[in-house]
Amino acid sequence: MSIDASEQAELRTSVRRFLTQNVVPHIEVSERDGTFPFELLASLRDFGLVGGLLSESDGGMGIDTQTWAMLMEEAGYCWLSMRVLLSGIHIVGTILSDHGSPHQREQFLRPLLENARRVFVAISEPDVGSNVSDIKTKAVLNGDHYQLSGTKLWITNGMNADFGIVVARTYSEKSKGELSLFLVDANETEFSRRGVETMVLKSTGTAELSFDNAIVPAENLLGGEGEGLRLILAGLNIGRLNVAMGAVGAAQHALDLSIDYAKSRRQFGRQIASFQLVQKNIVDMTMKVQAARALGQLAAAALSSGAPSRLECSIAKLYATEAAHEVANLALQVHGGMGYASGYPIERIFRDTRGGMIPEGTTEIQTLIIGRELLGISALT
Ligand SMILES: Cc1cc2nc3c(=O)[nH]c(=O)nc-3n(C[C@H](O)[C@H](O)[C@H](O)COP(=O)(O)OP(=O)(O)OC[C@H]3O[C@@H](n4cnc5c(N)ncnc54)[C@H](O)[C@@H]3O)c2cc1C
Repeated sequence: MSIDASEQAELRTSVRRFLTQNVVPHIEVSERDGTFPFELLASLRDFGLVGGLLSESDGGMGIDTQTWAMLMEEAGYCWLSMRVLLSGIHIVGTILSDHGSPHQREQFLRPLLENARRVFVAISEPDVGSNVSDIKTKAVLNGDHYQLSGTKLWITNGMNADFGIVVARTYSEKSKGELSLFLVDANETEFSRRGVETMVLKSTGTAELSFDNAIVPAENLLGGEGEGLRLILAGLNIGRLNVAMGAVGAAQHALDLSIDYAKSRRQFGRQIASFQLVQKNIVDMTMKVQAARALGQLAAAALSSGAPSRLECSIAKLYATEAAHEVANLALQVHGGMGYASGYPIERIFRDTRGGMIPEGTTEIQTLIIGRELLGISALT
């Protein structure tokens, strides 16, 4: 479903209004308690925010990539924790849609998009971050099930999820340690969860997950044995677009708040907006937001053309996440002491925009991907 520019603008306005009225009132308490108001997902789905890019037959809305990018921007404008959780639904939904067996689609995809089940993606481990190919978690085939052992760290929604995708090294007659994907359902498989407190994204239920010879039905292998890395890498570009556009939204919010504050705050008998140095901060913020949005839109256009889009998505992710945190930093400066106040959005946006530079490929890893795309030589290893 492709929508034109004026329909997209209308959709943006109604999404912004809905999120402001219905989600924003939950943010302060949810952030304080480390929870998320999952009951709101049903309404978010009506706007396409829950897997809307997936086809209607899968339970999505079949919206186009540019519209999806705008929705991710609005999600980030509202609350970066929410954008991250929506992105997780989308990533898992896409892998299930493209590679899930009929049984897996029924057990996992449909309930996921109908908000009946919550999800995680577990790749990272205590000793494995940027270098995914070094994963230690293993899955040994034993008759009709795999025995899964290992520890996953920094797992978004790990505390709340009903199921998730776990990347593990498989050992069977056919596979001698290649990476594979497993659908791990908390109703079927025993594993332990430990909450991990972080400075950022406090409502995303970050966890460490431990698997100790955990039993996973063999039918929960997603794709073939040894296909794990390929399937995960295929989803990375759209994941990077999601991060980039969420960062643009958060930065735009920080900018809007700064313009309002600069006009209302008075010092030396004048609005602080009348001081040239405050205006310079606002101008610098605006240029960064607009450049980041333009790069995100270029990446969305590249993805929707079906091109590989690695270069565009990595540039968008790198630039937008760095720019968003710089914008949040300037916004904090414009707000003076008020910028540090807990419960006021600037303090949260400042912390949460810092969160974009590490997950889904750090700034350094994006730089090396961009270098490899441009030069045809990898400096990654
Ligand atoms: C808020 C949050 C949510 C997350 N959610 C998830 C999740 O849901 N699922 C999941 O699996 N993981 C998740 N992660 C983990 C995330 O993907 C990793 O933190 C990320 O990949 C970086 O890995 P690392 O932290 O181990 O850092 P490392 O890989 O150890 O990197 C440390 C530093 O070394 C640099 N570095 C590493 N290799 C190179 C190189 N070749 N050249 C130059 N510099 C290099 C990095 O850029 C970084 O600056 C999350 C992380 C955070 C912070």
